[in-house]
Amino acid sequence: MRSHQLSSLAVLVTVSSLLFAQHPASTDRPANIDHHRVYDVCRTLASDEFGGRLTGDSGYTKSAQWTAAIMKKNGALPFDAAAGYLQPFPAPYTLVQSAAMTISIPGAPERTLNAGKDFLPLLYTDSGTISGSMVFVGWGISAPELGYDDYAGLDVHGKVVLCFRGVPNREDSVFQHYDEHRTRMQTAKSKGALALIYLYETPIANPNGDFISGFYPSMISFGVANALLKERGWTAEALQDSLSRSRNTRSFPLAASIHYRVQATHHPDGIGYNVLGILEGSDPELKKECIIIGGHLDHCGTHVGLTFAGASDNASGSAVVLEILQAMAAGPRPKRSVLFALFGGEEMGLLGSKHLAEHFPKQFTRYIAMLNFDMVGTGDGAWCGYSASPEWVKSILDQADRDVHILRGSRAMGRVGVRSSDFAPFYLKGIPSYSFGSNGPHLFYHEAGDKIYRINPDMLADMARLGSGIALRIADR
Ligand SMILES: [Zn+2]
Repeated sequence: MRSHQLSSLAVLVTVSSLLFAQHPASTDRPANIDHHRVYDVCRTLASDEFGGRLTGDSGYTKSAQWTAAIMKKNGALPFDAAAGYLQPFPAPYTLVQSAAMTISIPGAPERTLNAGKDFLPLLYTDSGTISGSMVFVGWGISAPELGYDDYAGLDVHGKVVLCFRGVPNREDSVFQHYDEHRTRMQTAKSKGALALIYLYETPIANPNGDFISGFYPSMISFGVANALLKERGWTAEALQDSLSRSRNTRSFPLAASIHYRVQATHHPDGIGYNVLGILEGSDPELKKECIIIGGHLDHCGTHVGLTFAGASDNASGSAVVLEILQAMAAGPRPKRSVLFALFGGEEMGLLGSKHLAEHFPKQFTRYIAMLNFDMVGTGDGAWCGYSASPEWVKSILDQADRDVHILRGSRAMGRVGVRSSDFAPFYLKGIPSYSFGSNGPHLFYHEAGDKIYRINPDMLADMARLGSGIALRIADR
């Protein structure tokens, strides 16, 4: 026990001996964490009942209602007395029912690709059938103002463009806007392309983009890409590596052609929800200050007969958030209030957390910290990105980890990028933030294989202990 905690602990011991004699004192409260309970919540969220929790779809809404009921049962107050626990926001979504892709390479037999293994539609595709020739366009970036254009001198009208996801000269932040999927799709469409096909090592589920009428984006595996690129003497890996080492473009037409049919239903009026519950603080003044403990509830849904259950991403983080709530609710209340937030729309580009950061509950005068949990149930321990200032952010992380010993790596966060998680909108508002993930490896990221089988109950429990230890220290400061 560290000396600076003695005074607050003394108060809590007095209060708890009067009111909460059955509960352990402040710094022991992480003991309320239950690895069976947190695992069961993760398992239920990753079950077929919720269909992969695609924001806007019925499976997601059901999971939002189910988690709201857990908040209610544990004495969390709804974020808004009239609206309840669910905070709605617009979330257009698309369900892909079926897809069939064949490629023809001169001199080779026509190849029918396997949906899920060889290719996957991007989860904002239109329905249609296309045939055509293909053009490789590097990173798919057209940025004349930066002196860079992967499309320079090429006619892609009525053709299918292939490209990597990423930017030239890795880490070059001037290209950040062009690394958004939305920008890349709009560029291809505006050049007259029928479709954009990403080359990914393994095709993954991706709902992070806008539906564009008459446009059919998808991805293919490096294995398939290697067959297409062979005529040019490249492998996908070597080509990607070469492009990422320089600012030179390297685009070319391919001899192969493609036939692609995809059937999808677009729901432009989809509604997503954040699930928001509040444990009110015990101090009459300090309870107006709030700590946010959050993680995204949504994942990628069910498409082409595959359910993307998202056990690691992010049933695990949702379960940890709810476990911290349940453990905290069972003990004496900290001085400050805690807002428990399960975000929708993270996979679509942080829709829910951005919405909350623009529509905070009115009762709080100040948000003093944000803890985010995203993919926290696998690997050999925890990794944490944290705000470089104020200084207490890092020191509280280290103090809390002395009780749990789960931290394998940490780093002060410099800037947020297009791959950031739900802490980003709060971090950008200057709220001191922590972002937790497993130290990895993150196997089956956005693949159908991200199932409950991969999740470790003790890892979930230790993440909850660490998060709870940090939140209680901040809440009682
Ligand atoms: Zn994800």
